[in-house]
Amino acid sequence: MSKKRNINTILAQAGIKSDQATGALTTPLHFSTTYQHPEFGQSTGFDYTRTKNPTRATAEKTLAAIESADYALATSSGMSAIVLAFSIFAVGSKVLAVRDLYGGSFRWFNQQEQEGRFSFTYANTEEELIHHLDNDPVDVLYIETPTNPLMLEFDIAYLAKLAHAKGAKVVVDNTFYSPIYQRPIEEGADIVLHSATKYLAGHNDVLAGVVVTNEADLYDKLFYNLNTTGAVLSPFDSYLLIRGLKTLSIRMERSTENARKVVEFLKTSPQVKEVLYTGKGGMVSFKIQDEKKIPNLLNSLQVFTFAESLGGVESLITYPTTQTHADIPAEVRHSYGLTDDLLRLSIGIEEADDLIEDLKQALEA
Ligand SMILES: *Cc1c(COP(=O)(O)O)cnc(C)c1O
Repeated sequence: MSKKRNINTILAQAGIKSDQATGALTTPLHFSTTYQHPEFGQSTGFDYTRTKNPTRATAEKTLAAIESADYALATSSGMSAIVLAFSIFAVGSKVLAVRDLYGGSFRWFNQQEQEGRFSFTYANTEEELIHHLDNDPVDVLYIETPTNPLMLEFDIAYLAKLAHAKGAKVVVDNTFYSPIYQRPIEEGADIVLHSATKYLAGHNDVLAGVVVTNEADLYDKLFYNLNTTGAVLSPFDSYLLIRGLKTLSIRMERSTENARKVVEFLKTSPQVKEVLYTGKGGMVSFKIQDEKKIPNLLNSLQVFTFAESLGGVESLITYPTTQTHADIPAEVRHSYGLTDDLLRLSIGIEEADDLIEDLKQALEA
């Protein structure tokens, strides 16, 4: 075994020296869907790209390493990563999930519930999660931390211990912090997944997902199901993901630095009622005093782009009520604090003063 290097080194050197045939420094992009058998009954390790592709395998190796996991599977999107993770749980499984979820996850969970595949219990707070873990049967604990968009944090290590005592598996969506700030496998999670579309790829030009685990039996089932259903990451997108991963740590560092400055400004603005920020990462939510001003604010911004998604080098502003969380019924959203006065920022790597200036003029417009 080679020495495990620091995450910054693993990221910067993602995919290098992976091609022994030519010595190419960066990873080659293998478009071939099929691979010649050297002889009858023999394989190079690659037969057909749905099963395994060299460029995707290089991405997966890096993704596993940065999450402190033995195995990773790269999928066509974050949603397909979630669907893949749940594909290994028996029909009828009882899922306990945090309430404040990515809207697309909630939409899919709801559909699973309606179609009778899984049943879901939601908890708003850590206390509620602990209460359910203590009192109800649970097969799967599903955690997003920090949550989207309320930025609540959950103690993965503590909850994983309680869940495991009940024989439940722990799944964590680690999209918001990325392994720079949080490595749930080290805290006891069984499966960690990402929308790699966000921080991991980082440039708003790749749709991708990843599922990682340390458990060989879970990996075997996940691999079997992914090969069977085929929602794998394409070679080209795998290449772009590797390219993006190389700068993950400096992008995260700069986003955090910028986000802290933006938060300082927002806290002093008379137009802002409340700022939600955990202190690290690039995701910031805030509630505005006068929600009627939201359309004007969104139209006035010039440096921020009004768009869905997050985690890229460019700063975005999202209105969850009409965008990412529109599929959650208003009364459900309002019941847990996702009110219509909330805006979400994904802080990129621009100059902080330009971001602050832009928010200032738009809030006053
Ligand atoms: C975007 C997102 C997803 C879905 O990922 P896609 O790549 O858009 O399919 C899942 N979870 C979180 C937290 C997200 O932000």
